[in-house]
Amino acid sequence: MRTVYVNGEYLPENEAKVSIFDRGFLMADGVYEVTSVLDGKLIDFAGHAKRLERSLNELDMPHPEVLPDLLEVHRELVRLNGIDEGMIYLQITRGAPDDRDFVFPDPETTKPTVVLFTQNKPGLANSPAAKKGIKVISIADQRWARRDIKTVQLLFPSMGKMMAKAAGVDDAWMVEDGAVTEGTSNNAYIIKGNTIITRHLGNEILHGITRAAVLRFAKEAQMQVEERSFTIAEAQDADEAFITSASTFVMPVVEVDGVAVGTGVPGPIAARLREIYLDESRKVAV
Ligand code: PMP
Repeated sequence: MRTVYVNGEYLPENEAKVSIFDRGFLMADGVYEVTSVLDGKLIDFAGHAKRLERSLNELDMPHPEVLPDLLEVHRELVRLNGIDEGMIYLQITRGAPDDRDFVFPDPETTKPTVVLFTQNKPGLANSPAAKKGIKVISIADQRWARRDIKTVQLLFPSMGKMMAKAAGVDDAWMVEDGAVTEGTSNNAYIIKGNTIITRHLGNEILHGITRAAVLRFAKEAQMQVEERSFTIAEAQDADEAFITSASTFVMPVVEVDGVAVGTGVPGPIAARLREIYLDESRKVAV
């Protein structure tokens, strides 16, 4: 059984409780982060902590007292649960007032709810999917307009994963005004020659922590990077494609809407980026 963290306490998972009036439960009024663990250490922790603070600020959500100590909480959960490879899930909500109300509760009397738990995933870095590549379909992006805030409002991404499953593929890329925004839980990329193309930052996509690191490594390795939107037709005509996220790192995409990308097997650039990302991130993991 896992030991989880709830509002200052480390508890067995079946003893951890959150109120039915919690605004995360009633209104998806919460934000989250997922940080991966390799060799028992946290990958890109500083980036996740920074984005978390931004998400809280964008929603005028009070900062929980534990905010400056979250690295210690993450490390303690890794230790208590003996995690070598896996993920730490963190969620902060606007807390649980006495009753349901659209109006935000008074931050003096309603403190944010803070929950963290571990997900043990041995073999995360050595995933067989990374050697095979994944297949995606395109779907219309029906999410709200502030996708740059990492809220727990994950119903549409969840429906997108189900559409992919029903179509017999692994994931979906979302399309808006003819251009790919991102994957249901990852950022999307195509490669043309020596150029990596991924959508520019804005409110339309989540500013991936893995995206920032991978683009930095790509530039350091003398690859060209173009931050601009691209279409599904361009993806189908690309030499390679891939996705990035904290839990999948760099994952090749070999098929888009039934059309093989490049040769239909993972390409050399995506494979190299995955290797660089894993090597460099392990070096500076905390
Ligand atoms: N876009 C979306 C919609 C996501 O849910 C995620 C992962 N949570 C990402 C991109 C990738 O972000 P990161 O690299 O920080 O995990």
